[in-house]
Amino acid sequence: MNCFDCANEGGPVAAIAVCHRCGAAICGNHAIVEPHHLTRTGTMGVQVPVDPPARLIWCGVCHSALEAKVREQHSHGGHPIHNPFHRHHDEPAVSQPDA
Ligand SMILES: [Zn+2]
Ligand SMILES: [Zn+2]
Repeated sequence: MNCFDCANEGGPVAAIAVCHRCGAAICGNHAIVEPHHLTRTGTMGVQVPVDPPARLIWCGVCHSALEAKVREQHSHGGHPIHNPFHRHHDEPAVSQPDA
């Protein structure tokens, strides 16, 4: 298979990876590799990152889309990274059965 992005730019280049998101075949120049920490459930149900990280491979298009999404969430005061310590205040308290 040839690189999808290189094909758009005029030349067939052998692909070495596949984008995690869109599934396009990409060459070494177009592949963006990011570490991706898997998590396990630790004490108190807290998600703990596991070492070493796995990896995600993105094409340039999907990676810039992802960065734009993170930027948007930052500018709107969202929480791009799930915080396991955050609890909703409106969560109902666990009711104790009458003994
Ligand atoms: Zn390429
Ligand atoms: Zn992609």
